[in-house]
Amino acid sequence: MKMMKKNREKIEQADQPSLDVGGDPVVQPLDEQTAEWISETLNRLSHSHFRSSFHLSRHDLEYALEKGPETIAFHARDFLRRRLGSVHPLKDGRQTPWRGHPVFTAQHATATCCRGCMNRWHHIPLGRPLSDEEINRFSALIMAWIAREVEIAQADVDNTNNVDSANNDEKQ
Ligand SMILES: [Zn+2]
Repeated sequence: MKMMKKNREKIEQADQPSLDVGGDPVVQPLDEQTAEWISETLNRLSHSHFRSSFHLSRHDLEYALEKGPETIAFHARDFLRRRLGSVHPLKDGRQTPWRGHPVFTAQHATATCCRGCMNRWHHIPLGRPLSDEEINRFSALIMAWIAREVEIAQADVDNTNNVDSANNDEKQ
């Protein structure tokens, strides 16, 4: 209960103007083509049992809300550039931890965790660096996935709160 309330407060804080991204999943406005690519890609990923098994932990959700989309998008671009961006990324296939940051989880969920997955899912050739356009586009995909997780969590909190307030007398 206490946890829920805390989470709820953080989610409400995220609705404040300073963090409001106008319902847009990424910080910079998306052009129509990118927005379409993101929605098609998320739809395609949803058909994969493996990819759709990833979800943000409560800790990751709280971290994402606390930092705000601009910071998280900055981290996404930074991880993509440093861990996947070069011609031959170090430890390719194992460079993205399973947990520890919302972007890591989002990368596994969106098949942007390593160049092998990027190649299979997004047809990005191996053996060449990622372009800035690709880093921005995959970062936008990651941010859209995270935004959707936050939405789902917020809906869950709303439902739980309704149940909580109905049972308040018994629990307190
Ligand atoms: Zn991978």
